[in-house]
Amino acid sequence: MSHPHPARDCILCGRCLDVCPVFLASGKEELSPKAKHQLMAALRSNPQLLEALPARLLADKCVSCGRCEKACPQGLSVPAALGALRAEHAGWPQWLWQRWINGGNILWPAMATLGRMAPRLPAPAAARPLMEKLAAMHDTPPQPWFRMAAPAAGTQPPLRPVMLFSGCTARRIRPRWSSKATALLELAGIRPQPETAFTCCGATLEHAGLPDAARQARHANITAWHNADRPLLVTFCATCAHGLHGYARHDELWHETPPDSATLWTQSVVPLSVFLQKFPVQVLDTAPEWFRYHQPCHAPAQHDPDAALLYAMAAQTPAAAAHGRRIRPAGMTTRQCCGMGGVMQLAAPSLCGMVNAACWQALDSLCPAQDNACPPPVVTGCSGCTLQLSGTAPEHVAVHHWLDVLTV
Ligand code: SF4
Ligand code: SF4
Repeated sequence: MSHPHPARDCILCGRCLDVCPVFLASGKEELSPKAKHQLMAALRSNPQLLEALPARLLADKCVSCGRCEKACPQGLSVPAALGALRAEHAGWPQWLWQRWINGGNILWPAMATLGRMAPRLPAPAAARPLMEKLAAMHDTPPQPWFRMAAPAAGTQPPLRPVMLFSGCTARRIRPRWSSKATALLELAGIRPQPETAFTCCGATLEHAGLPDAARQARHANITAWHNADRPLLVTFCATCAHGLHGYARHDELWHETPPDSATLWTQSVVPLSVFLQKFPVQVLDTAPEWFRYHQPCHAPAQHDPDAALLYAMAAQTPAAAAHGRRIRPAGMTTRQCCGMGGVMQLAAPSLCGMVNAACWQALDSLCPAQDNACPPPVVTGCSGCTLQLSGTAPEHVAVHHWLDVLTV
């Protein structure tokens, strides 16, 4: 039995305790990244311990948010270590997750159709959370808040070809996100090539303990990119962008590609919001007075381009709105995970629920005091966060991907 041996050891500094949503929501130190690394080290030196320990219980209690890795001075990654452990001890959650991701072209639209009926279906109280998540998969386009116009003359489109990497959610149940992204790029004279044979970015498969499926997905994406003449890859999901940026770390992917490929790939992944920062906007009558921003775990903590775009649009509003209407950010979450959790949704749903509840508590704390009766909508920049928060939102609270609040 083998476990990935980290290049460095945990030095027990405890920094990861401040950021791990599972530890913060549960208060259980045995679920912290520090405890997981200690246990991994014990397993490496004494493999038979695994037989006496509930390894799967340990492995399943991580939402793969990656916050511990960013905080760790040793660069230790719990998701990578647990992905390997899950691979060795695969069970029904892995089996189901692989079918959920790889069979999504049929399964997801079917679930979205079922979601349309979910609010009207009789269900016992215990099944209501599942029905609410199903309902969130159904596509109900909201009214946009901002109209975006073409940028000032002189803005140069990129010299390289451009292609969207829409991600699994948009391809399967939110194709209008891809259409909106295309329309926004076309405002700047950028004509994205039709999206080719991309598949899942692979990150969720890797963390679920499905390394072969993850490798196949990454390989298929790189092949499609090469076949399309190595275009810029424009994304509108923070988690997809994070997953694609991670490809350069996988040496085995680049053996048969030209020498500059890994570097060029990393440079090619560009968030759509980066393109849109300087586009002028007009606020529409449908805009609320306030909105809240949920920062996805996989967005850059310091320079989140989606947050920058939303805040910049809100700042433009008073001058741009002829009727003087304002829209204001009520604040943003920066430390909370929505609790989506990938395969942990299947293996430890109650823990996902605790993480999600802590996230809503933080979002509730952002409500302007005078607006308690009408909590502002929530905007985010990750497909998974959008679905997870939509499916768990309190009544009358809308959750949108930021593309939903824009029109051309
Ligand atoms: S990836 Fe997230 S949930 Fe998992 S151990 Fe690290 S901080 Fe905790
Ligand atoms: S931050 Fe890294 S080194 Fe520090 S306790 Fe956590 S896992 Fe160990």
